Amino acid sequence: MRGPRPRPELHSIAVHAASRSGGAPTPELMHPLAANENPYDPLPGVLDAAIAASRRFNRYPDLGCERLIDALVQRFDLPPTRFAAGAGLVGVIQSLIQAMAAPGDEVMYAWRSFEAYPVITTAICGATAVAVPLTDDGYHDLDAMAERVTTRTRLIFICTPNNPTGTAVRRDELAKFLDRVPEDVLVVLDEAYAEFVSDKDAADGITVCREYPNVAVLRTFSKAFGLAGLRVGFAIAPEPVAAALRMTAPYGVSQIGQEAAIASLAATDDVMKRVDMVVAERHRMENALIEQGWPVSRSQANFIWLPIRKRSADFAAACARAGIAVRVLAEDGVRVTVGARESNDAFLATAAKIRPEHDQQPFSA
Ligand SMILES: *Cc1c(COP(=O)(O)O)cnc(C)c1O
Repeated sequence: MRGPRPRPELHSIAVHAASRSGGAPTPELMHPLAANENPYDPLPGVLDAAIAASRRFNRYPDLGCERLIDALVQRFDLPPTRFAAGAGLVGVIQSLIQAMAAPGDEVMYAWRSFEAYPVITTAICGATAVAVPLTDDGYHDLDAMAERVTTRTRLIFICTPNNPTGTAVRRDELAKFLDRVPEDVLVVLDEAYAEFVSDKDAADGITVCREYPNVAVLRTFSKAFGLAGLRVGFAIAPEPVAAALRMTAPYGVSQIGQEAAIASLAATDDVMKRVDMVVAERHRMENALIEQGWPVSRSQANFIWLPIRKRSADFAAACARAGIAVRVLAEDGVRVTVGARESNDAFLATAAKIRPEHDQQPFSA
């Protein structure tokens, strides 16, 4: 074929896009449990704020998200110079890797983890990915990660709770790890699901980033706050890093997104009531799946991980036939979002129908 050609590295994005539709989620599916979205309609006050902002969309948004950052400063009690907002957390992650890692530099993360890390690291930024396997039970192997640090390591992503395994890094093991990492390596805690964590021993990035000068924390309005379609995420980073992020992604957040995020922060009590409902549903689904004989461990997020290996595609196909979209991650497993109660019931009924035989455990990892 003749004509302009994108860089060949970008081919791997096509692979990523294909894996996204692994469970064949189409708009016709009635139960969208593939993308870890918030199942509830926008809160009335948040919707009003977004509609009011939409009346002025002939104007550019606030370049530096100043009022949003003010609201975040109030919430987290850290200086505004440490904040940067962007077009969803994926937008922030892209700016972060672009700002920190040149071709030849190393970006480390656990694997399996969030699928955007390899795509942005290698295909978009041309940096070198160092993927360190999770432990057999789906936790970060922080000792192995510390051992893989080299003079070229610029960034280490720690996704906690981890997407897709739902495991959270513990406070004490994270402290031990951070004490081993050189101070010029930026450790990035991706806490997209922080609000759903119920483990009291889980690390809290907001606390950690006050104590360690080389730690950044990433949060998003897409999951617990339910603004996935508006694309608002943010970083709390060391000051020079935050400044670089603010500089490299101007006008990253629409005014509608900024106003909805500000209104969502003001409505945090209502947001957390919904989070509590999701967490209660998570427990109910986990108990039911364990009862059915599935190899499920406790999740700290708004999704459940089924490490069913080669059976993943068949499982997802059975779900699709029942109108349920779940997420297949190659031959590692299936991730199912904790959604609206009727979707969760539909999922549990489908899982019960294809439940593993108790004595032969054909689905176990
Ligand atoms: C969903 C998710 C994000 C990003 O979400 P945005 O919608 O881009 O804000 C980032 N990290 C992880 C681990 C996620 O699961």
